[in-house]
Amino acid sequence: MAKTLIIGSGFAGCTAVRTLRKQGYGDDITVLSPAPELFYYPSLIWVPAGQRTEAHLRIDLRGFFARHRVEHLAGTLTGLDVAGRTARTESGEIAYDYLIVASGGRYIRKLPGIEHAHIACAGWGPTKAFSDRLAALEGGNLVFGFSGNPKEPAAMRGGPVFEFMFGTDTLLRRQGRRERFKLTFFSPAARPGQRMGDKAVDRLLGQMAKRDIATHLGHKPQRLEADRVVTEGGEVPADLILFIPGMTGPAWAADSGLPLSEGGFLKGDAQCRVPDTEGVWVAGDAGSFPGPEWRPKQAHMADLQAETAARNLVAHMAGRPQSHTFRTELICLVDTLNAGSMVYRDDKRSLMVGAGAPMHWMKQAFEWHYLRDYRRPAGP
Ligand SMILES: Cc1cc2nc3c(=O)[nH]c(=O)nc-3n(C[C@H](O)[C@H](O)[C@H](O)COP(=O)(O)OP(=O)(O)OC[C@H]3O[C@@H](n4cnc5c(N)ncnc54)[C@H](O)[C@@H]3O)c2cc1C
Repeated sequence: MAKTLIIGSGFAGCTAVRTLRKQGYGDDITVLSPAPELFYYPSLIWVPAGQRTEAHLRIDLRGFFARHRVEHLAGTLTGLDVAGRTARTESGEIAYDYLIVASGGRYIRKLPGIEHAHIACAGWGPTKAFSDRLAALEGGNLVFGFSGNPKEPAAMRGGPVFEFMFGTDTLLRRQGRRERFKLTFFSPAARPGQRMGDKAVDRLLGQMAKRDIATHLGHKPQRLEADRVVTEGGEVPADLILFIPGMTGPAWAADSGLPLSEGGFLKGDAQCRVPDTEGVWVAGDAGSFPGPEWRPKQAHMADLQAETAARNLVAHMAGRPQSHTFRTELICLVDTLNAGSMVYRDDKRSLMVGAGAPMHWMKQAFEWHYLRDYRRPAGP
């Protein structure tokens, strides 16, 4: 009986489980992650408005794991012995035959004064802290921004920052206190969000102008202070900063012996194999894959890569060629709390469609649909 070890129970980890079983993999699956849960990041944007609680976003996977005959080990990977096919954790070692790394990325916290920012994308705690501070403020300067990984331009998370910012604007208007706040968006890029395409950037900047959100663009941030953002092009006063730094790969990867990209991610090829190894695949935010310069780090891509990795693992076990590859596409529903627009990009098209309130409902409906199976409790 072979044993496949999956590191991580996020989007990529869970999709890998589902695909393995769908492809007829009948051997052992072990998932290692801190808790048997999926954290649904995309709905963090609705936390400041009180529309999502922690319980909504932490999805208990015990039912899903039972149905898919998965052994879940609560723990954290600390290192790998690739030649010996052994994973190290704080509480011991796990032997495996095949490995799928789906442990997500990390935010680079090198900018001096980063502790003054709310890195809302990092999870429940930082988003709740941002929400509480926003609720407590009588008025002031709210500053939103993101930056990238200079060594790997694809490793950035900009979409949610626009969503948090537009959502905050809508929320303050709803609360009748928008005029007491100045909102400013800053970015080292002159045209932020360029990976979504030209039209998308024009529309985003147009939205900011329409909502009276100031911009400070094209200047690299130098440091954050308690009451300001300091960039190469000047200062932006700040009572509350929401900032998402660029991303890098898992902390343990540096000593793993696995090949890494310039930006610190595990290298993956078009088949999601980690090159120069046998029996190791990578999927989702943890990996760096070939593709166009606008390739996104998104849950949607994590799912497509996990499916590819799992299908190739099954092919490998059966002695067949690993011929499955994934398509690269960017799909982003940019929500503003009461409306939204959809950005789509693939190698042929790049479009942005505004659809008002129905797009907001669609994003909520998608959440329900996506999580439905994961939420089913154990039992028949
Ligand atoms: C606010 C926000 C909004 C977003 N909106 C969208 C959206 O609308 N659409 C979209 O497609 N994407 C969106 N994304 C991006 C999306 O959430 C990520 O791309 C996605 O979570 C990546 O999935 P993953 O499985 O690679 O990593 P993750 O979801 O981060 O999962 C990683 C898993 O690995 C575990 N783990 C980490 N380190 C270890 C370790 N050392 N040992 C064991 N386990 C470990 C974690 O606990 C977790 O279970 C959004 C992100 C944020 C933050």
